[in-house]
Amino acid sequence: MSLSPTPVIIGAGPAGATCSLFLSKHGIPHVIIDKARFPRDKVCGDALSGKVLPVLRKLDPGLPGMLAAEPTVLGSHGIVFTAPGGGSIEIPFKSVTSKVQSAPGFISRRTHFDHFLASRIDNGYADFRQGAELAGVESIDGGLELKINEDGREMTIQSPLVICCDGDRSVIAKKWGGKKVERAHYCGGIRAYYKGVEGMHERNFIELHFLKDLLPGYFWVFPLPGGYANVGAGMLSKYLGRKKENLRELMHRAIDQTPSLKRRFANAQLEGRIHGWGLPLGSRKRPLSGAHFLLCGDAGSLIDPFTGEGISNAMFSGMLAAETAMQALKEKKYDAAFLEQYDQSVYTRLWNELRLSHTLQKLCRYPWLFDFVINKANRNPTLRDTISSMFDDLDLRQTLKKPSFYMKLLFNSK
Ligand SMILES: Cc1cc2nc3c(=O)[nH]c(=O)nc-3n(C[C@H](O)[C@H](O)[C@H](O)COP(=O)(O)OP(=O)(O)OC[C@H]3O[C@@H](n4cnc5c(N)ncnc54)[C@H](O)[C@@H]3O)c2cc1C
Repeated sequence: MSLSPTPVIIGAGPAGATCSLFLSKHGIPHVIIDKARFPRDKVCGDALSGKVLPVLRKLDPGLPGMLAAEPTVLGSHGIVFTAPGGGSIEIPFKSVTSKVQSAPGFISRRTHFDHFLASRIDNGYADFRQGAELAGVESIDGGLELKINEDGREMTIQSPLVICCDGDRSVIAKKWGGKKVERAHYCGGIRAYYKGVEGMHERNFIELHFLKDLLPGYFWVFPLPGGYANVGAGMLSKYLGRKKENLRELMHRAIDQTPSLKRRFANAQLEGRIHGWGLPLGSRKRPLSGAHFLLCGDAGSLIDPFTGEGISNAMFSGMLAAETAMQALKEKKYDAAFLEQYDQSVYTRLWNELRLSHTLQKLCRYPWLFDFVINKANRNPTLRDTISSMFDDLDLRQTLKKPSFYMKLLFNSK
């Protein structure tokens, strides 16, 4: 049987919207559905790293500037790391700054950032259906049959290629991609919005506090426009399960019992409720495709295991999925063997970084090591510079894995 060669994207978050925009750029008509209507919220730290910018620029060189000009978006120029012992270090996003006009990183509530992308989808090539939920899927001759619930009406769509961008609970990833919660490769996360947190960095640095009770994981405070802050905590599920307290209690305790945080939150107001969601980490290589489907972003478990950053990897994978889709349509091949080129292109781009971040995540289990490196870096400008450049330079970041790096620190008198 020959199906109409129209790819279908499930989900219009960063992965799905990016994939759709690239398909349109390649002139490929497609359907994209999302169960939500935009603008919609998504539980997240809302931090957009510099890795988001090249994808936006590839879509349209003007897009980074448009994003930076949004009043709902705050430019960020670096990170403050606080070690378990209380010492902290400021790391400007140094080397990226020289390449771009705007700030090297951004913070934007996902309600706004995802809408910024999704509002650009309706462009002649995309049939964008909001309020349309994928409820089930079956394999048919030549493709997949999708059962969709659109505003209470049931309908089916058949397609030779389905691009799954429906996040951590992806229907097809669970059914055919072997996706399940693996506690050693999964993180629990909660997010709150506060107004009036004091002592935020003047250049909007994001703050990662590696507190003893939250290792491997961290407490974060990310500035937002209008005097707000995204505040949250995340921790590897394997270790969280061993704790007597849940993440909400751990977060409140971090605020109430860490003297520096207690002072800064003294006059802060919690806005709305605290929400939780899972982070499927890319610390294990998993298949990202099968016959007639590709998995992108959280559906493919591609979140950085050290930083918890998933938006840029979602966008990268969405972009690469569009390229694979273009090839598949051209050659009329949608079998598992052909689509495996997508796994290769994603992992060629991301695997070194994911694997290295997994090593760093494991090092986080040693609070003394963290304290040691940060205290040294505070006294040694060259080391500070090296760590600063590590955010942009993967080869340099590899040095963190080497015992010789720590030996040099140990025997350096500064
Ligand atoms: C607490 C927390 C903090 C985080 N902080 C950061 C951070 O600061 N920076 C960062 O880069 N990353 C962060 N992440 C990770 C980031 O949120 C994700 O990696 C990112 O959202 C993945 O994008 P996505 O497009 O794959 O999926 P999503 O953003 O989850 O989008 C999936 C879309 O699919 C739709 N959908 C779902 N199911 C269906 C269905 N059955 N039918 C139709 N549509 C469906 C949803 O409505 C949604 O719009 C954080 C995650 C958590 C949980």
